[in-house]
Amino acid sequence: MTQLHSVSIKDLSLNFGSVGVLKDLNIDVADGEFLVLLGPSGCGKSTLLNCIAGLLDISEGQIFIKGKNVTWEEPKDRGIGMVFQSYALYPQMTVEKNLSFGLRVAGLPKAEIAKRIAAAAEILQIGPLLHRKPAELSGGQRQRVAIGRALVRDVDVFLFDEPLSNLDAKLRSELRVEIKRLHQKLANTMIYVTHDQIEALTLADRIAVMKGGLIQQLDDPLTIYNRPRNLFVASFIGSPA
Ligand code: ADP
Ligand code: MG
Repeated sequence: MTQLHSVSIKDLSLNFGSVGVLKDLNIDVADGEFLVLLGPSGCGKSTLLNCIAGLLDISEGQIFIKGKNVTWEEPKDRGIGMVFQSYALYPQMTVEKNLSFGLRVAGLPKAEIAKRIAAAAEILQIGPLLHRKPAELSGGQRQRVAIGRALVRDVDVFLFDEPLSNLDAKLRSELRVEIKRLHQKLANTMIYVTHDQIEALTLADRIAVMKGGLIQQLDDPLTIYNRPRNLFVASFIGSPA
C-alpha cells in the first residue's frame, strides 16, 4: 500500500552548465502536508521550487504531482500556484483585476470568478482593497493579494518562495500566522522556501534542511531541533535568522 503523495521528487538533479545545483534529490510530500525547504542563500531552494513549478527543466529525474508524471508538463498544467518574494502583481490593474486575470484568460464563467474572488477576499481580509492598484497598497497587503492570486486558482499545491522576506518583522510574524491559518483552513499541500529558522519551525509539518544542493535532514521540526543529524543542521537551526 503506498500513501498518496501530493508531490514526489525522484532522483532529481539539475545542472547549470557544468555546475551541479541540485544533486539526486528524493522527496515525498504527503497530501495536505506543509513542507518547508530551509537553508542558507544559494543552497538551491528556489531552483528546486522552480523545478516543481515547471519554470526550469531538470537535468535528470522525475516529478509527480497527485500521482501524475508532470516532468515535461507546462507550468499551467501542473495544478500548482506560486507566490514569490517580489509580489509580481500587474501594476496597471486593480486588485480585483489582478485576482481575476488568470481566471478570465482560462475562460471561467463570470459568476464563478466573482464567487472565488469573494471567497479569497474574505479569507485574506482584502475585501476593502479590491478597487485599489498595487501602488496604493502596503507591502503586507500586496503579499496578501499575491497569495490571493494563487488561492482563486483553486490549485492542489501552493509553492511559496520566501514570501515574507521583504516585510518588516512585525508584518512577517502577522502574515506567518495567517499563512498557517490558511493552511489549516484549506488543508492543501504547501511547499514553502525560507532561510528563516523561526518561519520553518513555526509553519512546517516537516522541514527539509538543504546545503549545497543536497538535503541534510528531512524531519519534523522537533526532531530537527532536538536531534540534528549533523553539525551543519545543528548550527543552522540554532542560529537566529
Ligand atoms: P537559494 O534560493 O537557496 O538562495 P538558488 O536556487 O537561487 O538558491 O541558487 C542555487 C545556486 O544556483 C546558486 O549557486 C546560484 O548562484 C545558482 N544559480 C541560480 N540560478 C542560476 C542560473 N540561472 N544560472 C546559473 N546559476 C544559477
Ligand atoms: Mg531563493
